[in-house]
Order: sequence, then structure tokens, then C-alpha cells
Amino acid sequence: MRRFDIIVGDITRSDAEAIVNAANTTLLGGSGVDGAIHAAAGPELLAECRTLGGCETGQAKLTKGYRLPAKYVLHTPGPIWRGGERGEAAALASCYRACLTLARGHGIETVDFPSISTGVYGYPMAQAATVALRAIMDFLSENDLPRQVRMVCHTPQAAEVYRQTWNLWYAEEKDDRL
Ligand code: ADP
Repeated sequence: MRRFDIIVGDITRSDAEAIVNAANTTLLGGSGVDGAIHAAAGPELLAECRTLGGCETGQAKLTKGYRLPAKYVLHTPGPIWRGGERGEAAALASCYRACLTLARGHGIETVDFPSISTGVYGYPMAQAATVALRAIMDFLSENDLPRQVRMVCHTPQAAEVYRQTWNLWYAEEKDDRL
């Protein structure tokens, strides 16, 4: 079984045990994938988020999934793109690692990620893909859990960028590294 895959889809319909929400630091909902996840999960999700006291950029917090097919939501505020020299890459890598570490700690076997920060936060897709894939692949090579991770891209164009980036850095490694 492949431990990592890139697919096109709507993450609110994902059948993974946990989905990741590209949240903001209030954790009280927003636009884009955040709004879609709250709409699909129902008001109980916002109620639980209100108890969490927000979350720092690059960190992650876990809630239940409520009306989502996913059992859990891992909420992580990505960095806002400010030109690339304000620590954006380190913060974005931290988002992926924080979610995967939290998932591992809860024994979660499957995690689906959206392309964090590449919507209203303005992170260029190809640069975000490089950071995301490195963080995920490094984590998987060092940990048995989560068993499987997927990037769920909202458009075929985004998936193509992620696939090309994966091919650039990881095509030679095949699945035996995983
Ligand atoms: P951010 O504030 O972190 O930039 P956005 O939600 O604006 O978050 O965008 C992050 C990414 O999520 C974008 O690439 C956007 O196309 C994608 N996205 C939006 N809705 C969905 C969805 N339902 N499923 C998966 N990805 C989505």
C-alpha cells in the first residue's frame, strides 16, 4: 500500500480518519476550506472550537469531526505569505509536522491535508508544495503512524503542481522509502 498520495477532491467529503483544516488563529471559522469544513461539520464544531482559546500559526489542535465523515479535525493556522523572507516556509512546515505529530499521538491511521496557506493566505502553490511534501515525506520516513497521508487538492491544476513537485524530489525513491 502506498503511504502517500495526491488526489483531487473536496476534503469535507474525505473518508480519512482525520482531515486537516487550514484555519486561522482564532479557530472560529473563516473562508475557503475552513468555512466549508465548518458548514459540513455543523455548529457543534464551532462550539468545541470556542473552548480551545485559538491556536498559534504553525501549531495544531484537534477536535471531533461531528457531521463530517472524518472522525477528527486537525486545525492548523498556516502562515500568511509576505514575500517569503518572513519565516513562511518554517511556519508552513511546522503546520504539517504539528498535525502529523498530533495525529500520531491519538493513534490516527489516516490523515488528509488541504494545500495549507495557498488560498486567501497567498502562499505560491509550487513553493507551498515543496515545503508540504518535504515535511510529510520526512515525517513518514521516521514514523509508522499515520499509516497513510493524502494531499487533497481542490483543483486538477493544484494537484498537477503537487505531482510535478513530488516527481522532482521523490520519484527516484519509489515506495520502499515509505
Ligand atoms: P488559507 O487561508 O490557508 O490560504 P484557504 O481555505 O483560503 O486557506 O485555501 C487553502 C487551500 O484549500 C486552497 O488551495 C484552496 O483551493 C483549497 N480548498 C478550498 N476549499 C477546499 C475543499 N473543500 N477541499 C479541499 N481544498 C479546498
